[in-house]
Amino acid sequence: MVSRVIPVEPFDLIIFGGTGDLARRKILPALFRRYCAGQMPADARVIGAARSDMSRDDYRDMAAEALREFGGGRACEDGTVAGFLDRLDYVQVDARGEAGWEDLASLLGEPRIRAFYFSVSPDLFGDLAQRLTDHGLTHDQTRIVVEKPFGHDLDSAKALNTALAAHFVEEQVYRIDHYLGKETVQNLMAVRFGNVLFEPLWNSQFVDHIQITVAETVGVGGRGEYYDHAGAMRDMIQNHLMQLLCLIAMEPPAKFDPDAVRDEKLKVIRALDSVLPHHIVRGQYDAVAGDAEHQGYREAVNNPRSTTESYVALKAHISNWRWTGTPFYLRTGKRLVARSSVINVMFKKTPHSIFGLEAGGGPNILSIRLQPNEGITLAVTIKEPGPGGMRLIDVPLDMTFAEALGPEGEDPPDAYERLIMDVIRGNQTLFMRGDEVEAAWAWTDPIIAGWKARGDVPKPYDSFSIGPGDADELLRRDGRAWRGIKP
Ligand code: NAP
Repeated sequence: MVSRVIPVEPFDLIIFGGTGDLARRKILPALFRRYCAGQMPADARVIGAARSDMSRDDYRDMAAEALREFGGGRACEDGTVAGFLDRLDYVQVDARGEAGWEDLASLLGEPRIRAFYFSVSPDLFGDLAQRLTDHGLTHDQTRIVVEKPFGHDLDSAKALNTALAAHFVEEQVYRIDHYLGKETVQNLMAVRFGNVLFEPLWNSQFVDHIQITVAETVGVGGRGEYYDHAGAMRDMIQNHLMQLLCLIAMEPPAKFDPDAVRDEKLKVIRALDSVLPHHIVRGQYDAVAGDAEHQGYREAVNNPRSTTESYVALKAHISNWRWTGTPFYLRTGKRLVARSSVINVMFKKTPHSIFGLEAGGGPNILSIRLQPNEGITLAVTIKEPGPGGMRLIDVPLDMTFAEALGPEGEDPPDAYERLIMDVIRGNQTLFMRGDEVEAAWAWTDPIIAGWKARGDVPKPYDSFSIGPGDADELLRRDGRAWRGIKP
């Protein structure tokens, strides 16, 4: 199966922070893959911008190195790198200074689609927005792309929204949550709203509970300083898991258009109840004994007294007609036993078993795997083959993309590829609106404030385990259990 690639209009993409980690690991490789796929028009340009003193050729060398290290993917053949590098330029500019802005203006020239990617610390968003306006670099085809973290609490998120709103209308601002760019996440909407099968059952009458797991094997790595001020609640739950929760729980939007989808997501966040203290478990990973390579959390962040969590599990309730009575269990953590992001929709048992309870089988489970091995599986109950009476077993109806879709499913576009092309097309559906982000912080802030007020200390857990035992207890109390992290 070959996917259709629709070229986008000519554009200029300016990456502030064009020499940084995100630009090298994600943005440039994503653009290169779109170039290889034939989606970038011949005269599209990508301009890196940062304070470092670099020539255009230096920047192209840096980009070539980044492509070698972080990959081009299946669509790219030898010989295409030079063509892509030809589109790259560089300008030395300081977000907080005046030098370089006129150079950028003369590089840009005639107005056309202009996307400014703020791949820099959020402290610089306001400065960048101000200078873009001061130097007359914006027009009605201008778009601004901003990265997470979008604030560290409600007040700071509001301040960022205000700083951007002073120069841009909301339709120009693209707040990235790369989880929304994942193929399976969009498939979640296709499965829910493109089939008649699921939607009638998608409510508390038929769904017992929903589990959302985002488990990582990596520790905090080189992000220790940032992470120790953030923790799993701010770094993962407030954005990625919250976005997944919204897409699972939202009402069907009238249309697949940005505001229709985002209105429905916002209603979910606003319908979330406050989380009770005993419905939440925090954890912090320990070192692996005798293994100098795998430090514990506190050593990794160089803070022996840190009370920041590297793991959170919680039970959330959505108070509306569809979901009252169906808990949503969310968990995420670092240094867990496997890298696995999965949503499990756990349906209720049949109201009566004609085979007797001892026959086994059920209930149905719809599993949406984001990584690894993206795909969707529905566990259905059938008869165990062979004689010996009616014994029931569960088998998966499996839509693993790699198997169902061939090479296209094996190597779907990376989230950044899709999202950057959506920015160029002017489609905000998969980006967070300012009010959504604020509502998510308004739900998260009291949880974090509660920990602080109570002097809460996270529970230690073994590296490469399934996390703290209390997280299992959270479900056991309700007569439930987590679905295994291992795929
Ligand atoms: P980074 O590696 O520290 O890079 C920062 C970039 O900003 C560099 O190119 C730096 O270049 C430039 N810069 C710093 N101060 C500047 C100034 N005053 N004016 C102009 N340019 C300036 O950071 P990063 O990891 O790429 O992250 C960038 C943003 O993305 C951050 O907000 C981060 O939280 C977010 N993010 C990153 C990742 C990731 O995987 N890296 C993932 C999600 C979100 P010069 O020093 O040459 O100016």
